[in-house]
Amino acid sequence: MISGEVFDETEGTNELSLRPQRLDQYIGQEKIKKEISIYIQAAKNRSEALDHVLLYGPPGLGKTTLAMIIANEMGTSIRTTSGPAIDKAGDIVALLNDLEPGGILFIDEIHRLPRFVEEMLYSAMEDYYIDIIIGEGDTARPVHFSLPPFTLIGATTRAGLLSAPLRDRFGIVSHMEYYTVESLTEIIDRSSSVLNAEIKKEGAVEVARRSRGTPRVANRLLKRVRDYAEVVADGVIEREIASKALDMLSVDKAGLDTVDQQILEMMIELYNGGPVGLNTLAANIGEDPGTIEDMVEPFLLQEGFIQRTPRGRVATEKAYNHFGVPFWREEK
Ligand code: ADP
Repeated sequence: MISGEVFDETEGTNELSLRPQRLDQYIGQEKIKKEISIYIQAAKNRSEALDHVLLYGPPGLGKTTLAMIIANEMGTSIRTTSGPAIDKAGDIVALLNDLEPGGILFIDEIHRLPRFVEEMLYSAMEDYYIDIIIGEGDTARPVHFSLPPFTLIGATTRAGLLSAPLRDRFGIVSHMEYYTVESLTEIIDRSSSVLNAEIKKEGAVEVARRSRGTPRVANRLLKRVRDYAEVVADGVIEREIASKALDMLSVDKAGLDTVDQQILEMMIELYNGGPVGLNTLAANIGEDPGTIEDMVEPFLLQEGFIQRTPRGRVATEKAYNHFGVPFWREEK
């Protein structure tokens, strides 16, 4: 079970942590779990640091959680930072130097590291040293820092933005997938018991279905549904209570959020279902095309609401049905 002292600061609450602590509590992502557990076992048997790990995928899918679990399973400590927080050469040297041998440095949003820090990481990751130049002009001199063996775990929503030399230095690269309704149901079940909330199986399935394949969303919705159940009913989260609470929160039956809905409605209403280019879509709703491509589109593709064609994105019949618009597409 979860330790009573752990607070989940990242979720902005003082609730007992909903984060699983061990690999066997980490639900779903079976392929990644299986691979990582083998690499962890092998590294432990050889008393070596685990190879560097790159986790990529949309936000809220469990990258930070997995990094912490890896540290627990390796029996080592972890320090966490994020790409934009490191803006001086000294920052990265200090972080790495302070690690215990075999320790883990977790860098969230690693694609936002300044380029010169990325370059410093090449030798650090490969041979555990960093050379930096201190001073300027005539007084400039190189200083060599030997580092303890360590594991870098990088998390990113945009693997394509990492430079190739940095990406190549990660021995383990894992792509996080959206979760199935079954996995999310299990996560909600587990979170309910951590939160001491009583939930029926059908209630958990209802929340899971509407969580956009994302554990962070599932946990957030669960907390709101629990509030609703406590105030409006007897506290037990039945399917109908969950459904009413989620309707009140304007969470769509398919779990689509407002950006998803905006994009689909625009494709259908303004572009006759497409094909329409990513840049056009992004410009229309005032979002960055990269954000749409990495965070919005993968879920819509996976759920079959859109398809990618060489000429752009098209809305599928499922999307039309979802909005109750008769499906019709002129064959071009
Ligand atoms: P990311 O770093 O990818 O944005 P997090 O690791 O912060 O995502 O996960 C968001 C929340 O979802 C966590 O607080 C955790 O409670 C929950 N969570 C994520 N993945 C899992 C999982 N596989 N099993 C159970 N809970 C999970």
